[in-house]
Amino acid sequence: MQQVPHFIGGEHVSATGATLDITNPATGQVIRQVADADAATIQQAIDAAQAAFPAWRDTPPAKRAQVMFRFKQLLEDNAERLVQLISEEHGKTSEDAMGELKRGIENIEYACGVPELLKGEYSHNAGPSIDAWSNFQPLGVVAGITPFNFPAMVPLWMYPLAIACGNAFILKPSEKDPTSSLAIAELLDQAGLPKGIMNVVHGGRESVEALIDAPEVKALSFVGSTPVAESIYSRGCANGKRVQALGGAKNHAVVLPDADIENAANTLMGAAFGSCGERCMAISVAVCVGDDTAERLIETMKPKIAALKIGPGTEKGLDMGPLVTGAHRDKVLGYIEDGLRSGAELIADGRELSVAGHEQGFFLGGCLFDRVTPDMRIYQEEIFGPVLCILRVDSLDAAIELINAHEFGNGTCLFTRDGEAARRFGDNIEVGMVGINVPLPVPVAYHSFGGWKRSLFGDLHAYGPDAVRFYTRRKAISQRWPSPFETSHAEFNFPSGS
Ligand code: NAD
Repeated sequence: MQQVPHFIGGEHVSATGATLDITNPATGQVIRQVADADAATIQQAIDAAQAAFPAWRDTPPAKRAQVMFRFKQLLEDNAERLVQLISEEHGKTSEDAMGELKRGIENIEYACGVPELLKGEYSHNAGPSIDAWSNFQPLGVVAGITPFNFPAMVPLWMYPLAIACGNAFILKPSEKDPTSSLAIAELLDQAGLPKGIMNVVHGGRESVEALIDAPEVKALSFVGSTPVAESIYSRGCANGKRVQALGGAKNHAVVLPDADIENAANTLMGAAFGSCGERCMAISVAVCVGDDTAERLIETMKPKIAALKIGPGTEKGLDMGPLVTGAHRDKVLGYIEDGLRSGAELIADGRELSVAGHEQGFFLGGCLFDRVTPDMRIYQEEIFGPVLCILRVDSLDAAIELINAHEFGNGTCLFTRDGEAARRFGDNIEVGMVGINVPLPVPVAYHSFGGWKRSLFGDLHAYGPDAVRFYTRRKAISQRWPSPFETSHAEFNFPSGS
């Protein structure tokens, strides 16, 4: 059985103890094993990163950027192989895997501009003969912990910019699909990154806790489920670290009566069922304003759900692959049964789906619930599967009130042709990322990504301008060169700028 090793100080490091199984979700077969880092292995990665950091910190940003230019090219050259690995372990279609890789590469492109991003701020004559400036210095060793659902893109939200800013990085990818995360990180070695600046360690909770508790690790970026995000945030902060922890979601799309229903239905299909609903920005709730809107949306979506092409993600031309694990599929099935018990109407039922030749795979067809109410678990909790819930309200204001009362606030979308309604929605909705007729409003790499409420713990969002601030510390320097032509004297008043 092939083993996925750690990558420390530019070398592969095999498991010293336990390993974890990696399953191909399309077949249900274990295809690889991944090393589960013990405390000594985590310390080895920390030591390698710490030893490499000082020289990298002092490397000019333009030289650091050159590594990122080469890294981007290597990712493009290796894209087909990486996409195959993503699809094989995660289950998503290869076209979708290519999409996440491309969105990940955008973050490398942003990091290529790091000399510009780190220019700092300067004030000449901030006081008499005094110049003042702020520069932004790297933190040291920083770590990232990432979820299974974007094994390429989410790590790339973090380390290209962290490294371009002058830090050394330790990535702990998801143990469910770590091979592509490792394969991508290794390309940095080929791109000429000094050994020890990028390290990958594998494992689960214990590996993560060792990173949170290590005093040498100065900052943690986490993306995953809300309970874990919250605990990492509080434990990391208690340890004096800078932490950004992005959590789960329940993303609502509001459909107004004036919306183009065919367009809303088409884009909702992708947003609800793409990647089997295993996206933190997936739309899992459609809030229809008025019964007539709900009926028209349901009638338009029903045949589209029945026509979903589902199979192993590594085959071309499909809409959906399997869910990531058998346990996760069972969890989603449990939610469907819960929805039925609580009185929701299952309009499209994907539970009986069987994919010929892949009977052991973790497949589930598209599911559509109508008559969902806010007190139901299927509405309150993140299902993370191909299940779309329809709620009915009687006004845009009622929709806004409903969404604002939900514990999550990651993404949302409004379908309408009414500019005033769109503006009111954008102004009043308590959600971090908002789309108007755009169901997956994932910001481009030169903005930043983050939810509100219990979808993000911390202050700064992921990637883009916020991440430059997250991965650097401001140092404010005031400098005076006394003139030989002036006599100095003691000044007892608190110095002011004028
Ligand atoms: P998860 O929380 O189970 O795991 C995420 C990471 O944390 C993995 O690397 C895992 O090994 C580690 N981990 C798991 N349990 C831990 C524990 N008790 N202590 C410390 N570390 C632990 O999440 P997942 O199932 O891999 O990913 C799906 C979740 O991620 C969903 O809730 C989804 O909404 C969320 N997500 C959020 C965003 C976002 O940007 N907000 C993006 C992608 C995914």
